[in-house]
Amino acid sequence: MPDAKLQAPTLIDNQAALGELTEKLKEKRVIALDTESDSLFSYYPKVCLIQLSAFENGDGSAIRDYLVDPLAIESITPLTDLLSQPSYEIVMHAADNDLLVLQRDFGIAVERLFDTQLAARILGKDKVGLAAILDEEFGVTSNKRMQRTDWGSRPLQPEQIAYAQMDTHYLLPLREKYSAELQSAGRWQEAQEAFSQLVDTEFEGREPSDRTMWQMKETRMLPEEYLGVLEALWQWRENEAQRRDIPPFKVMGNKALAELAENQPATKRELANTPHIGRATVHRYGSQLLEMIRDGQRRPLPEPPESARPPDYRLDRKIMARYDALRKWRTKTAEQRGVAPEIVMANATLLEVAKRSPQNLKELQKIRDIGPWKAETYGAAMLEIVKK
Ligand SMILES: [Zn+2]
Repeated sequence: MPDAKLQAPTLIDNQAALGELTEKLKEKRVIALDTESDSLFSYYPKVCLIQLSAFENGDGSAIRDYLVDPLAIESITPLTDLLSQPSYEIVMHAADNDLLVLQRDFGIAVERLFDTQLAARILGKDKVGLAAILDEEFGVTSNKRMQRTDWGSRPLQPEQIAYAQMDTHYLLPLREKYSAELQSAGRWQEAQEAFSQLVDTEFEGREPSDRTMWQMKETRMLPEEYLGVLEALWQWRENEAQRRDIPPFKVMGNKALAELAENQPATKRELANTPHIGRATVHRYGSQLLEMIRDGQRRPLPEPPESARPPDYRLDRKIMARYDALRKWRTKTAEQRGVAPEIVMANATLLEVAKRSPQNLKELQKIRDIGPWKAETYGAAMLEIVKK
């Protein structure tokens, strides 16, 4: 149930209002932010709503919420400039997808971030989803139905507005709480390092044009001889999704694609008997699918790209031995600290350490994702492992 005491958010849907909002936000130091996209509804997803919250007064007594409608405003440049400045701390929950879409759609590159989900993970909290946190910390229940709502439709419905407001309204008090907890747990610096690494992440391979069938786990599980048919079907699905401007999974699921590639039905009757293929699909796409399967059978087997091939390092026993030892060390360290293993260090980082085998702290710190805090905290133990 939404908080009855909440003041309604201000809807910003024209240039003048955006200008006023930007002026107002300039005086703040900390701004909460979230975005909503239509990724469940279109082939080329776009940001449809930007939620912002800020303390009204310096004493943190009242929070004001704003919903910016980028579909209605010609240029949100004044706001994008503000959000990219390092003098403002931007508070988000699970920022990584938001950072990607803000950069993609508006060129916003957040400089200073506080990610409340990352903070929760660094604090070793069990529940790190926003809905669970809002419930636990503020007694607020979020409307689950809104998780699949179409944010691209207009006018926005009252329940969409109420839901969108919830996503940022509580982030500022949550940030205060977690800041205090991080400080008293001696994890403040660790969190700051993790936040700055997150804003420096390069987001690749998440655009429709970057997609390939090799990213599906189903592709890696299929025997090689089926891959020609899979490729034909996959390309067909991509084209069809683009044509209808919907996400590919709404044309057909990955499992269904893989079943078709494996069973290679030749008639509509066989098609209808293929697992994961419903009657509507046979009716709508039957002839096209049978044609794609025949087309795929005539194709040469596709060559997997470098990224999908088993990596060469697997052949190097020394590297693998170091990698295994580092992973064991990480599991133990994560247990001792009461955090998830990835909070200590990502697999990719451990592998890089195993490959490069740094001999001192300076070399270790040249590896991406090992900042000063991680080097100081974990460096000695890691160097000892790779030197063995
Ligand atoms: Zn949201």
